[in-house]
Amino acid sequence: MSELLRVENLKQYFPVRKGILGRVHHYVKAVDDISFHIDKGEIFGLVGESGCGKSTTARSIIGLHKRTAGNIYFNGEDITMLKGEAKRMLCQEMQMIFQDPYASLNPRMTVREIIAEPLRAFGMNDAEAITAAVGELLEKVGLNKGHAARYAHEFSGGQRQRIGIARALAIKPKFIICDEPISALDVSIQAQIINMLIDLQKEFGLTYLFIAHDLSMVKYISDRIGIMYLGNIVEMGSSDLIFQKQCHPYTQALLAAIPIPDPAASDARQTVALQGDIPSPIDKPSGCSFRSRCRYAMNICAEKVPELKAIEPDYYVACHLINEEIASL
Ligand code: SF4
Ligand code: MG
Repeated sequence: MSELLRVENLKQYFPVRKGILGRVHHYVKAVDDISFHIDKGEIFGLVGESGCGKSTTARSIIGLHKRTAGNIYFNGEDITMLKGEAKRMLCQEMQMIFQDPYASLNPRMTVREIIAEPLRAFGMNDAEAITAAVGELLEKVGLNKGHAARYAHEFSGGQRQRIGIARALAIKPKFIICDEPISALDVSIQAQIINMLIDLQKEFGLTYLFIAHDLSMVKYISDRIGIMYLGNIVEMGSSDLIFQKQCHPYTQALLAAIPIPDPAASDARQTVALQGDIPSPIDKPSGCSFRSRCRYAMNICAEKVPELKAIEPDYYVACHLINEEIASL
């Protein structure tokens, strides 16, 4: 498979200012040197608790944040310096589905207007062509053309997310960032939206960056996964390998938090459940940022940041425990 997106050493620091002069007091390191790639036609899942930098990563990719450092390549081209028309053309290939379908759609616009907006922005002006395109898009997302005249506020959360997806698909992008697309929805309709996203991905040959805090959902949808903790990727690899090996203590804890059907096994699982709260990104622990919650923490964990190292082809872990094990083999 060929590569569609490559994120290289991305850093996104936000200054925190203090005093009457507004001097920079320190930086919040929301994303702190992460690298990953996504192949064409692949679904790459980015998982972690809220505040770990997933959405910031997404916003950096689509150019909503000015990066602190790093490069982002799309189809082999560095897109971080794009401006004007070149940046606009990139928007046609890259779309985003947002977490909150209540906030992301203007309730005072009709569905037709919402979906027509990107169509017009990219050159469709004929009213009949727009009506036909909107009707077709609505059908693709399980609604119908009769919905076009209604207002966004008349729809349920799940239906609104379908409208958001139709809008994202309108200009035929290659790549879609799904930022927690189901976490604001009722559990009963989450699976419908996920299955629809998978069907659309196959039908249109799309590539997704799928962001979520729920690892079980990400496993279901993703080919490869990156696990994020406080601005870093701590484990990354194929979905199957991550679940089979779960080398990083944080991944183990995330998996332990997934309810499992066998009650006899739950005791053993609970011993690795996550303890304590995620530290503030303003005040990250030294060395391994997971150490304040890690039951395996050693002296070296306070002194040295563990590197994300390949322990198998395309399988990476950042943990001193694993590195020591490998060194001793
Ligand atoms: Fe735990 Fe140390 Fe590994 Fe961090 S590096 S996850 S503290 S064992
Ligand atoms: Mg988020």
